[in-house]
Amino acid sequence: MSDKKRSSLELYRLKQNIRELEAKKSFTQSTSLVTLYIPPGTQLSDISAKLRDELGTATNIKDKNTGKAVSEALRSILSRMQYLKNGENGLAIYAGITDDTQKLEYHAIVPPEAITIKDYVCDSYFHVDHLKSMIADKDELGIIVIDRGGATFATIRGKSLNIIMHKDSFVPGKHNKGGQSAGRIERGIEILAKEFYSKMALMANKLFLEDYQVSAIVVGGPAMSKDNFLQHPSLDYRLREKIYKVYDVGYTGVQGIRELLVRAEDDLHDYGLIKERGLFQKFLEELSKDSGKAIYGEGPVRKALEHSAIDVLLFSEGIEIVHVKIECSSCGKQFLEATTKPDIPLLETKIKGTSCPNCKANSLAIVSQQLLIEEFEKLAIETGATIEVISTGHEDGLTLLNTFTGIAALLRFPINW
Ligand SMILES: [Zn+2]
Repeated sequence: MSDKKRSSLELYRLKQNIRELEAKKSFTQSTSLVTLYIPPGTQLSDISAKLRDELGTATNIKDKNTGKAVSEALRSILSRMQYLKNGENGLAIYAGITDDTQKLEYHAIVPPEAITIKDYVCDSYFHVDHLKSMIADKDELGIIVIDRGGATFATIRGKSLNIIMHKDSFVPGKHNKGGQSAGRIERGIEILAKEFYSKMALMANKLFLEDYQVSAIVVGGPAMSKDNFLQHPSLDYRLREKIYKVYDVGYTGVQGIRELLVRAEDDLHDYGLIKERGLFQKFLEELSKDSGKAIYGEGPVRKALEHSAIDVLLFSEGIEIVHVKIECSSCGKQFLEATTKPDIPLLETKIKGTSCPNCKANSLAIVSQQLLIEEFEKLAIETGATIEVISTGHEDGLTLLNTFTGIAALLRFPINW
């Protein structure tokens, strides 16, 4: 797995690509769309040799049109092989004649994680499931439940719970025996308990900073125990920073983890999105403070970007605004129009039946189109702003989309409008 984490924007783009590829079908439903998964470490010359073999057999395909389409797809890949580089994550390549464009399409994708299957398939659709598995909920949540009797460590990814380990402390419980030695025994027990918390703090550091890539951690336990643990100097500050919430829980072990998950349900049902929600809550907080550091709407955000005032731009994945440039080929006049990606074919049909407002000729055509997020990305790079693409799969994401136009920003400093 690559250690370089893709930004939310890159993942968003990949998600879009995959969605588009997934929707494509081969023309005439023939099995002529080529999917090629190349794992890292594979020699591209070997792949080329394999494709040339396939090209040889493609001529034997009974249906002549299918055979021709497969050959064209293979040739388009072969002609690009010398320009490709097989990097640490490998490559996914798609080629073929699709029903929507009726033209030969070629797509090469560098995946966010290493490709683990070597595959060559001809089908009536592109195979994207392996890529999809890479963008599924990846963020893992670390869980610790602890009391003086023991500690349990676990992670959740998606909906699956993985218990990593349970450690019993073997620290005797508090007892009520009286007598002269009672105080001394109690002190001894306290020392043992402290040692146990120290060991568990070191264990937590190792598990959640080295062994498991968790994006956040929740901690549960009886009031005193978890505080003793959380305040322990052995606990790494980087681990402390990952602690998202702390809950009162009466047990450890699997039972304790289950109890914690019930208590944390409202907070964690989309734990992979904790960061997004945190940003959105910050946005709401600034907005309610009226600090001038929270803005929303396409116009204000664009202006703030131009003033280099944006720290983080929150862009809803539900926004598919595209700015389209329409040109009249007779008089050369250009018009700008905003639409959404799915509506582009509709707009194309519309302008075909529309005459130029300037010269009245029937010669309008779309000459370029740019996604709003791409425009913003360019401005963001120039001004040092970060773009976070916010999912619509949780309540805050929906509020961003429905109440705040899907485009909002946290500013470095308030600007005068
Ligand atoms: Zn014109």
